Amino acid sequence: MISPRYHREIPQRYRLEAGRCEDCGEIHFPPRFVCRKCGGKRFAIEVLPRRGKVLTHTTIWIPPAPFEIQKPYVVAIVELENGVRLTCMVAEAPPDEVRIGTPVELIFRRLQAQPVWEVLQYGYKARVLAG
Ligand SMILES: [Zn+2]
Repeated sequence: MISPRYHREIPQRYRLEAGRCEDCGEIHFPPRFVCRKCGGKRFAIEVLPRRGKVLTHTTIWIPPAPFEIQKPYVVAIVELENGVRLTCMVAEAPPDEVRIGTPVELIFRRLQAQPVWEVLQYGYKARVLAG
């Protein structure tokens, strides 16, 4: 099921808004209410950089049903230019184009080919940048 939390986080996902702890500087994406590092509760909004590189990746050959039409596809952990890491699908790239260290940028795409539970889910994906 799609959780209320998912809906709450949509604007943040679209704008790539993270929360930077005002006490220790740790950046949380999506933002949290309590800092995982120091327990601080004061945050400033910080927009994440769109560019980063692939830290690690895997190819999904047998996906969950909503993603069936897109197989095979690559899921990567991307480290953004400010050090924040996130997991996302790599768009429009055959698996052999994605390697550790491959430069990518985040783009917004529909995540599933078919509406799931009558909701179209959009979010970020990574796109390989031409070397
Ligand atoms: Zn903190």
